[in-house]
Amino acid sequence: MTKPHRALTDQAAERLTLAAEPWLSCDDCFEQIDEYVERLLAGSSAPMPAMRAHLIGCAACREEARSLLLLVAEDEGLDPGPGLRRLTAG
Ligand SMILES: [Zn+2]
Repeated sequence: MTKPHRALTDQAAERLTLAAEPWLSCDDCFEQIDEYVERLLAGSSAPMPAMRAHLIGCAACREEARSLLLLVAEDEGLDPGPGLRRLTAG
């Protein structure tokens, strides 16, 4: 007698997916990095948690975001300080 426990498995899988930390690939990160930097400079206190999570774990993208932040700040005549702090505070 075969009685597959598919329902249970699906439910467990769904719960795992929902509980998972938001995590982007570097490509996803790169696509949103402009917006993220804009938000940091605009003073948004909790911008884009998935991006945050990625940047905390990915030094390459964090460095990319840092460079872009400095570039955009200079371009728009903004003080990069607060945004930089927000970026590196994790
Ligand atoms: Zn990355």
